[in-house]
Amino acid sequence: MLDPICHTARTPITHPTLLHYSTDPMTQRYLEVALPVPLRSAFTYAVPATCNGEELVGRRVLVPFRNRAMIGVGLTVSTRAPESKRIKEIAELLDRVPALPPKLIELGQWISRYYLAPIGETFRAMLPPEIELRHHREYWLTSAGRAYLQDLATNEENTDVEAAEFAYLRLFEKQKADALERALSETRVARMPGGATAAEKLVRRGHLAARESTRRRKTRTQQIVAWNPANEASAANATEEKIREVLTATRGPLPLNLLLAQTQVSRAVVARLEKSGRLQTWEEPLTAEEDPWETDFTPPTNVLNSEQKHALAEIWRWLVAEKFTAALLHGVTGSGKTEVYLGAIEAALSRGKTAIVLVPEIALTLWVGRLVRARFGEQVAILHSALPASERAREWWRVRRGEARVVVGTRSAVFAPLENLGLIIVDEEQETSYKQEETPRYHGRDTAVYRARLEGAVALLGSATPSLETYHNARDGKYHLLELTARVADRPLAEVRIVDLREEFRRAHKAAPVSESLRAAIALRFEEKTQAMVLINRRGYSWSSLCRSCGAFVQCQNCSIALTYHKNRQRLECHYCGYSLRPPQQCPKCHAEYMYFVGDGAERVEEYLRENFPAAKIARLDRDTVRTKREFQQVLGAFAKGEVDVLVGTQMVAKGHDFQRVTLVGVVAADLALGRPDFRAAERTFQLLTQVAGRAGRGELSGEVLVETHYPEHYAIQHAAKQDYLSFYEKEAHFRRMLHYPPFTALASVLVRDKKIENAIRWSRALAAYFAPFEDRGVKILGPAAAPLARLRQEYRFQFLLKSPQRSRLSQALSGALDFCVKKEIPENALIVDVDPASLF
Ligand code: ADP
Ligand code: ZN
Repeated sequence: MLDPICHTARTPITHPTLLHYSTDPMTQRYLEVALPVPLRSAFTYAVPATCNGEELVGRRVLVPFRNRAMIGVGLTVSTRAPESKRIKEIAELLDRVPALPPKLIELGQWISRYYLAPIGETFRAMLPPEIELRHHREYWLTSAGRAYLQDLATNEENTDVEAAEFAYLRLFEKQKADALERALSETRVARMPGGATAAEKLVRRGHLAARESTRRRKTRTQQIVAWNPANEASAANATEEKIREVLTATRGPLPLNLLLAQTQVSRAVVARLEKSGRLQTWEEPLTAEEDPWETDFTPPTNVLNSEQKHALAEIWRWLVAEKFTAALLHGVTGSGKTEVYLGAIEAALSRGKTAIVLVPEIALTLWVGRLVRARFGEQVAILHSALPASERAREWWRVRRGEARVVVGTRSAVFAPLENLGLIIVDEEQETSYKQEETPRYHGRDTAVYRARLEGAVALLGSATPSLETYHNARDGKYHLLELTARVADRPLAEVRIVDLREEFRRAHKAAPVSESLRAAIALRFEEKTQAMVLINRRGYSWSSLCRSCGAFVQCQNCSIALTYHKNRQRLECHYCGYSLRPPQQCPKCHAEYMYFVGDGAERVEEYLRENFPAAKIARLDRDTVRTKREFQQVLGAFAKGEVDVLVGTQMVAKGHDFQRVTLVGVVAADLALGRPDFRAAERTFQLLTQVAGRAGRGELSGEVLVETHYPEHYAIQHAAKQDYLSFYEKEAHFRRMLHYPPFTALASVLVRDKKIENAIRWSRALAAYFAPFEDRGVKILGPAAAPLARLRQEYRFQFLLKSPQRSRLSQALSGALDFCVKKEIPENALIVDVDPASLF
């Protein structure tokens, strides 16, 4: 059920009254509000007198903005009247307390500056999901529309289009002959033949009118009871003591009925204690059913080895010092980093601090979350973007209220509203998924380090294959370095064998989806009854469809990329924009009938293995086979239980998991990533190979890894085969230094884009002229050049790369560029500024 939006009496939301600011500027306060719009500034609102005495900074507020209601967050309060005389007033304060504690306001300001991200969009990423408002559109017939309808009714020779419009408009008339108030809502319109598209067309012609309206969602509430910390007198009797115990020591604030059930006291007792000031109560939205905790899971109890103990002792020392410390925990795969994380969290909690654990993907929140929960119970919250908004809001507020003191989550959990933060762990810190690829384009790991700095906390970055940036920082002494050099229980690292595909081809004279060596190795596992994993980092059946006659690839109509063939679905698909079509029989260019498919993907590899091992149980794990976290768990669960013999998958299979009976890992086309036009191609290849190799031989059984490649001598492959991080680092760092790439230079990418190629070119030229003088100020400018993905979702893209050994110079050039665009009327969204890009593709 919806009920109309509630607001203070003076400012109705849909038709805001503009007020003139108070003549006495001393009494009138103004609040800078960050609103979720892609503009670089915050907006000023007057604070109504009813809000006096309320904390406004960090508080979520409901304000009128361009004829609609919006939720923003207060940033600063001032008493200075803004220049504009027509200032609107805040309509409502949401929540009982500021959603964002002061440190998070500071963090948001930093992100907005450092990544040149619009302030409102930055804060939107930090706030809990908006579940309070529902926006929709309403339509009604205008007088012009009524007249038109009359015309059509009397006209005998309506065209088909007119007849359709007549039928459509009549639906509005029938429903609502009289008043504007009884407009049709968006949902109703969408169900009518012609739908909302037809309505919008008629709106453009003036026959229908539309307005946006905002409704406040009605939330059912429950009463929450807390022990009043202000009342210091000790409990008067046993009943009181029991309540105090539950509310302070064992549970924290509780819904009334739960408290009654747990303490066996009556409502009257609670009411009396509230009256006397012992208890506080308030209303809170009734939340969805709690996610049932997994209760049958007992984590292994491990006795730490000496390296783990040493690492933990250091972390303890830093926590005790309560000073900002950043450290890299560099531990080979299977060295027991998780155990160190758990110890560190325990240390933080025992010092009265809170902790965040960031993991690179949603699937790992389950894996790691389960371990952390098993150890620390209900004070653990899980936050990631795949949770339904209501559930995420619930977890978020549990954290904000201090009921959860440990947060496990993906990238955005770096903004978890914990106070008194002692520790942030970033697991697999090298993962690109930590970089957000939309505004605000922040890097979760770097943001974690900055937040730790703000809060005087410990940032612990863990990896077997650290990013060049992080290892460089550790080498330089900016970060401490903790090392776990051996696998637990002295298990050896898996043996890695390189399969030279050129040689294989010379011998077999044909190219199968899987090399003969790998096929034989899998056959052996099948006989032995152990398990194998096969990594193929391409989705689909074939990478592309090619015409033998003219050599053209079937391209996406929106992007400059070849379409991938998915056999199951019988579609050619674009993995960038989702465009798809039936595989054509004829070449779309020359109409010849000689289309064929090139390059084997995961779907083809799976099919091939099924053909070769008909008795084996084979499963595939990629975004085509698992779409939900449940499916993902099912596949991995079946593999862990031994119900699957061979698991084929994309990089999803490479990360983090700990399977005990895997004795073979095969990597098909290991060098796929090496061909990418990206300075991180070698680093990515090295990381992926090392990670996946780390999946083998984790249990009692020893493991073997087979890496197929056309470039067996490439240093990324060679060092990955030896699992020698340090040698790889030295070599790669050498190249980066020579070629002026991170971590030796600050790098930013500026993309200029538009659906019209003329605009994209014109704006790029203008920007080139603007950037040119910075060449003399220590900034190297490359471009504009066609971006590696020259067209994406119908937009033409040109790219600049800016490099400077001094980050401040780079920032100047970039922020100036944004001002320049405003001056030249280049639309703000034509520019994508990416500071410290994770990928140039
Ligand atoms: P990684 O460093 O690759 O993240 P994990 O933390 O996943 O390694 O640990 C690998 C395995 O070793 C897990 O099964 C874990 O339970 C086990 N383990 C961790 N520490 C010890 C230890 N001190 N003794 C025995 N086993 C351990
Ligand atoms: Zn596309």
